[in-house]
Amino acid sequence: MSDTVRVRFAPSPTGSVHIGNIRAAVFNWLFARHAGGKFLLRIEDTDLVRSTKEAIDKVLDAMRWLGLDWDEDVVYQTHNAADHLAAVERLLSTGAAYKAVKESVDPATGERKSGEVVLFRMPKEGRIEYDDLVKGHMRKKAEDTQDFVIVRSDGSPVFHIANVVDDIKQGVTHIIRGDDHVENTFKHIQIFKALGAPVPKYAHLPMIVNAQGKPYSKRDGAAFVGEFKEQGYLPEALFNFLVLLGWAPGDDREVMSRQELVEAFSLDRCKASPARFDMKKLLWMNGEYIARQPHEVFKAELSERLAAAGLPPAPLGCSLDALVPPVQIRTKTLSDLPGNCEYFFKEDVSYDPAAVEKRLKKPGVKALLSSFADAFAAMPEFTAAATEAFVHGEAEKIGEDGKPVGMGTLVHPIRVAVSGRTEGPGLFEMLELLGRDRVVRRLRSASSLAS
Ligand code: GLU
Repeated sequence: MSDTVRVRFAPSPTGSVHIGNIRAAVFNWLFARHAGGKFLLRIEDTDLVRSTKEAIDKVLDAMRWLGLDWDEDVVYQTHNAADHLAAVERLLSTGAAYKAVKESVDPATGERKSGEVVLFRMPKEGRIEYDDLVKGHMRKKAEDTQDFVIVRSDGSPVFHIANVVDDIKQGVTHIIRGDDHVENTFKHIQIFKALGAPVPKYAHLPMIVNAQGKPYSKRDGAAFVGEFKEQGYLPEALFNFLVLLGWAPGDDREVMSRQELVEAFSLDRCKASPARFDMKKLLWMNGEYIARQPHEVFKAELSERLAAAGLPPAPLGCSLDALVPPVQIRTKTLSDLPGNCEYFFKEDVSYDPAAVEKRLKKPGVKALLSSFADAFAAMPEFTAAATEAFVHGEAEKIGEDGKPVGMGTLVHPIRVAVSGRTEGPGLFEMLELLGRDRVVRRLRSASSLAS
């Protein structure tokens, strides 16, 4: 089957690309690349109001950003209008379609008007059946179907006829699309048959749902491809995450390279049950991808974001190259930068009020910070190993309650005092990178915030 597979992504441009739609593109792309077939792009631009140039560009941008390269020229559905109407003429001539006068309400004026439309004739008895590659055997009784409009009274062809005629024209062998099209599929199968064309194989992908099992929407968080880009997600991470919405490799792999995904992908491993959109998992996955970026790539990204935030290009106490590794492995989205490490670049620490409240406004912390300032100032050498050994020693001392002081009592206030935050690189590594004088200065000035 390898060189005969032809699949397509057929978005209707609306201005932003929902992840449910782009997930269909991802599955089609992987299916084609796995089979060595063709992945086609058809823009279903018949809604002239919504299909503006900007809306179409958004689709193309989202595809390029995610690395979904397509084969052959992009097909614009509006360019095929003559084919759609010619197919309708054939259906009329064989009796598979018929004309009727229908009343409709003008959505703009609310006026009732009647006009001639073309309807497709559905079978009156028996069943329509097909084997869905994801959902299994599907059937519908003829009596549960109705004839439907394929040409409106203004002469324009409806989605169903345009979609099927274009699939025939493009030689599409497999239709991989969202669950919401299952009802349409019963209609489309009949149109393929009436036009004497082979019926393609269908695979309907499960709905993407939120934690409550309801369709995932913009109320649940980022829902459009552009938002993920803006929020600092890497395209490779989003791609990997989208593949797992309805598919799994069958082993415990989750982070998989594009090559591994192409090799492993198959429709029979697609799940029919709803796919839960887990934002925490995406965040984790994005962090994994950021951690794996080449040093130079992450460094360039950080530099760009430092410049945009008006911060200096190099940290105060060390080189940018030394700072990159500990920051890189703790960055979850690119938009964490430079906020998660700005205290390396400017003398004035911005203290997170919640961190101050939690770690500094505690009895004894003021004295603790100034005693560490004194001790650090007097240490023969100020390395991560030396500060660690020293803090360990202090933690083992017996406190007023008769128990060892413990590391937590010491490291948390020190961290907040020198960085303003509760999270960051390992404390001792961070102290060394900041440098002794800066650490001592910050401990002393933060003691004024402490109780
Ligand atoms: N334009 C339709 C959509 O975006 C096409 C569905 C399809 O056949 O893939 O829902």
